[in-house]
Amino acid sequence: MKISRIRSQILVMPQQDPLADTPEDTSAARPIVIVRLDTDDGIEGIGVTFYGGAITASLKRAVDDLGALTVGEDPLRIEAIVAKLRTAAGGSGPAGMFTLALSAIDIALWDIRGKALNQPLWKLLGGARQRVPTYASGALRRNLSLDEVVAAAGRLKDKGFREMKTQLALPGDTSPAKEVERMRRVREAIGPDIKLMCDINQRWRVEQAIDIGKRVEDAGVGLFWLEDVTTHDDYAGLARVNAALATPICGGELVYGIVPFRHMIEARSVDYVMIDLIRVGGITQWMKVAGMAEAFNLPVVSHVVPEIHAHLVTAVPNGLTVEYMGWMLRLFEGTAALENSELVLSDRPGLGLAFREDAINRFKVAS
Ligand SMILES: [Mg+2]
Repeated sequence: MKISRIRSQILVMPQQDPLADTPEDTSAARPIVIVRLDTDDGIEGIGVTFYGGAITASLKRAVDDLGALTVGEDPLRIEAIVAKLRTAAGGSGPAGMFTLALSAIDIALWDIRGKALNQPLWKLLGGARQRVPTYASGALRRNLSLDEVVAAAGRLKDKGFREMKTQLALPGDTSPAKEVERMRRVREAIGPDIKLMCDINQRWRVEQAIDIGKRVEDAGVGLFWLEDVTTHDDYAGLARVNAALATPICGGELVYGIVPFRHMIEARSVDYVMIDLIRVGGITQWMKVAGMAEAFNLPVVSHVVPEIHAHLVTAVPNGLTVEYMGWMLRLFEGTAALENSELVLSDRPGLGLAFREDAINRFKVAS
């Protein structure tokens, strides 16, 4: 079997949260690049990448250039293809646009492998289980008023979510007391049994994270984790926060490639390792970081793209939960069913997904 063709396309997806019907910034949009790799025996593998922002056209070009180098290769020899693309890209790796482009191709290669072997990816990659917990994300944002976030949290609970994430580091005139009060009110709205996570998106300094984190603990909020509490690659600073708080610290979504995860984990910067499929370099590299985390007795969680990440978190023995962000759901058909706050994987081969043609027609841009 040989790769015979690559096609890519830019889509601009509205960055909407369909989970709790919270007010939207309707101008927010996220450009993505979708890719299709064909083989000479009629299999099509699909992949996706993003984070290109205003230079997404350049990201598409990088996907096309790297994809052209895969034509004629055996799609089952993924490591050989990755090595070829790394060499061909000169010094443009190991992070940045090279890795974003590589990820789209790697995902499509794994889709081909699953289809060629007639196995779903979650099983092919380890098959630790077929259903996995998921948490509602993107709904309880820091720009909502206190009343809005409390009401939205209640709606998520009513929808059946048993895990959900909110944000602190509030905009405008805030104080430690206001931050703690918001957490207390959200917890009050959902009761004691819902797992509640909180993302800081790197907005606190180390000493703020320790101060406010302790106050939230003292208020009895019981956070399931506190995420990206400070600059993502300040591994020593994160380790200080981690040592000072009983609350589990989560991080990793901004880390590119596999090697920085070694430094993050060795520094004891996080309790839960969040791996982003697109920034780490695709499915091949995601699995390596999951194994590294397992060796340190750490669980792993995913960042956005639940449609693909559901396979990975279910596959590995230390997969904890999948971030459920709805903004790409309308791109795919065949996504895992949401049942009782868990994602249930199908037995369809590969990713089990197909691009919805109506979504492509609606969101494509002229290129
Ligand atoms: Mg985050």
